[in-house]
Amino acid sequence: MDFEIPRTIFGQEHEIFRDTVARFLKNEVLPHYDAWEDAGRTPPEIWRRAGELGLLGTSIPAAHGGMGGDFLFDAIVIEELGRHGVAAPAWDMHAYIIAPFLVRHATQKQKLHWLPKMASGEHISAIGLTEPGGGSDLRALKTTAERVGADYVINGAKTFITNGHIANRILLAAKTDPTLGAKGVSLFWVDLATDGVTRGRNLKKIGNKAQDTAELFFDGVRAPADARLGGENEGWSILMDGLVRERLVVAVRSIVLAEAAIDQTIEYVKQRRAFGQTVFDFQNTKFKLAEMVSEVEASRPFIDKCIELHVAGEASPELAAKAKLTTTELAHRVLDECLQLHGGYGYMWEFPIARAWADARVHRIYAGTIVVMKHIISRNL
Ligand SMILES: Cc1cc2nc3c(=O)[nH]c(=O)nc-3n(C[C@H](O)[C@H](O)[C@H](O)COP(=O)(O)OP(=O)(O)OC[C@H]3O[C@@H](n4cnc5c(N)ncnc54)[C@H](O)[C@@H]3O)c2cc1C
Repeated sequence: MDFEIPRTIFGQEHEIFRDTVARFLKNEVLPHYDAWEDAGRTPPEIWRRAGELGLLGTSIPAAHGGMGGDFLFDAIVIEELGRHGVAAPAWDMHAYIIAPFLVRHATQKQKLHWLPKMASGEHISAIGLTEPGGGSDLRALKTTAERVGADYVINGAKTFITNGHIANRILLAAKTDPTLGAKGVSLFWVDLATDGVTRGRNLKKIGNKAQDTAELFFDGVRAPADARLGGENEGWSILMDGLVRERLVVAVRSIVLAEAAIDQTIEYVKQRRAFGQTVFDFQNTKFKLAEMVSEVEASRPFIDKCIELHVAGEASPELAAKAKLTTTELAHRVLDECLQLHGGYGYMWEFPIARAWADARVHRIYAGTIVVMKHIISRNL
C-alpha cells in the first residue's frame, strides 16, 4: 500500500536489511513452502540459513552472537514474512518473543551458553505456557517444578506449543510454589532431549500449516538449577515483562497482512471480469476497498508509534493490548472482505488471500485473546 502519511521509523540500514530478508524469503523460503505445509513443519537447515543471515539474532547483542539491533529490525522481518504470506518458520516466536526473555533476564553465564545457538539457528526454541486445562488464566497452571537436591523435577503437560516438535529447548513455566498462585511461577530453559519429555501429536490446524504445534508431556523431567531463568518464583513478573513485546509482534504482523491483502485484492479485481466490466469497476468493490484502505492507513501511524515507543522501552501493557486488539480485529475484517472480493478463488489454498485469512485467524486467540486484551485495557479506565 502507498501511504499518504509516509512511514518515518526506518532508516537506510533498515531498508538494506529489509531487501536482504525479502530476497531470502523469495529465493530460499517460498520455493519450499508448499512442501513444508504438507509436512506440517520446517526443516532445521532453513533455521540455520536464517541464522547465517542474521534474522534470528536481530536483537541479540553482538557479544552473544546476534546483530545487536532492536525491535525495529525484528519488525522488518515480521513485516516481510507477512508481506510474502509466510507464516512459518516461526522465527517471530523464536527470535522476537523468546530470545528477548533470555537477553533481558538470563545471567551472563546463561547468555553465553544459550544465546549464540539461538542466533545461529542451531537451537530452535519454544515457549510452554498453555496447558490442556487453560491458556487465558495462566495463574492456574498446573505444571510443577519441585526442587530436589541440585535439580528441579518437572511434572505436567503443555499444549498448542509452536515449534514443539522441531525445538531443542523450551522456555517452560511451572509452579515452584503452588500455594502462591501466580507468585509461585518460575521459568526454566529445558532441554527437550531430557528423559521424561514426550512429544505428542503434531496438531492439525486451520492455518499456519507449516508451523508444527505440539502437545508436550513432562514426567519427572530433571532440570539443573542453573536452567532456571531469573529467580525462583519470579516467573510471573518476567512473563508480564515479555507480554508487551509478544502482543506487538502479533500487531505488527496483523497490520502488514491487511496491507498485503488489500494490494493483492486491488490487483485481482482489476483483471477479473464480470457482467462486461472488471470487478473493480463495481461501486461496491471500490467502496469496500476505500473503507479498508482508509482504516488500515489510519492504523499504520499508530502501530509505527507503538514500535517506536517499544524500542524506547516506553510501551505500556495497555498500549500493547490496544495495538493487538485493534490490529487483529482490523486484519480479521479486511482479510474476510478481500477474500470475498476474490469470489471462489479466494477460497482456494493456492491464492495468498486464502492462506492469509486462515493464518491470521489465530491472531485474535494467541498471545492473549481479544477478550483478555479488553480486560487489560479496561482495568485502568
Ligand atoms: C496456533 C496456536 C499456537 C499457539 N502457540 C502457543 C505457544 O507456543 N505457547 C503457548 O504457551 N501457547 C500457545 N498457544 C495457546 C494460546 O496462547 C491459547 O490458545 C490462548 O491463550 C487461549 O487459551 P485457551 O486456548 O486455553 O482458551 P481459554 O482460556 O479456554 O478461552 C476460551 C474462551 O474463553 C474466553 N475467556 C477466557 N477468559 C475469559 C474472561 N476472563 N472473560 C471473558 N472471556 C474469557 C476466551 O477469550 C476464549 O474466547 C497457541 C495457540 C494456538 C491456537
